[in-house]
Amino acid sequence: MSQELSTLTAVVTGGASGIGAAIAAKLQAMGAQVSVLDLNPKNLPEGQLGFACDVSEDTSVKAAIDGTVAAFGGVDIVVNNAGIGAIGSVEDNDDAEWARVWNINVIGMVRVSRAALPHMRQSPSAAIVNICSIAATAGLPQRALYSATKGAVLSLTQAMAADHLREGVRVNCVNPGTADTPWVGRLLSAADDPAAERAALNARQPHGRLVSAEEVAGAVAYLASPLSGSTTGTSIAVDGGMQALRLRPV
Ligand code: NAD
Repeated sequence: MSQELSTLTAVVTGGASGIGAAIAAKLQAMGAQVSVLDLNPKNLPEGQLGFACDVSEDTSVKAAIDGTVAAFGGVDIVVNNAGIGAIGSVEDNDDAEWARVWNINVIGMVRVSRAALPHMRQSPSAAIVNICSIAATAGLPQRALYSATKGAVLSLTQAMAADHLREGVRVNCVNPGTADTPWVGRLLSAADDPAAERAALNARQPHGRLVSAEEVAGAVAYLASPLSGSTTGTSIAVDGGMQALRLRPV
């Protein structure tokens, strides 16, 4: 797939860390010009263009998309990856927390897509890939808010695929299982015994280990490239078989 994306421009939100950084690196290696929209776009690899951008702010998103178009001439691929976690049942998170997380995890994807779509319609190979989660359908305990945002990402992906099909813009999502990123590292380091917690987490995965960010990036690369030219409105699970086996990560 090395040259599949040459001449194309890819926007990756949350591309400075974890899954987003692996996606940005993969798309760049495939020949794309890469624009990273992140709260903290520091230490990006050479050649990637970084924008300090908060996907929960419309003006911030518009400025970053305008800046990408000014630098690279257009937008062909959008990877909506920026997202945050939330722990608890519906009794644990108040309205303000629901609004805050929803504004990033769901409306953030809407905002970036809305700003990019006028440019993507000019593209010979336009694709949006939303980073969802197995939480969308797994019924995870103590993850009501997070799961609801990812359920919304799944249905948003399907609805957007229908709306933009005839415009040549494909829309798909990737559902990672528990992936080895700084996010999960932060959760583990809060445990009493992080090493034991990591071993227990590995043991709960069907294939005995966490998913790697590079494995998620591989699925995104396929959905972002013309190799998947007849694929839209669907999702790829990158979870070691967890969804297929009807298992839960927590
Ligand atoms: P991470 O915390 O390592 O990285 C997230 C990146 O997003 C950071 O660079 C952060 O600065 C950026 N970001 C956060 N809020 C932002 C905002 N408002 N505007 C712009 N950028 C923002 O996280 P990760 O584990 O790489 O997760 C990335 C995505 O993958 C998220 O959507 C998450 O829900 C999803 N996901 C992660 C896992 C996992 O186990 N790690 C599993 C399933 C899905």
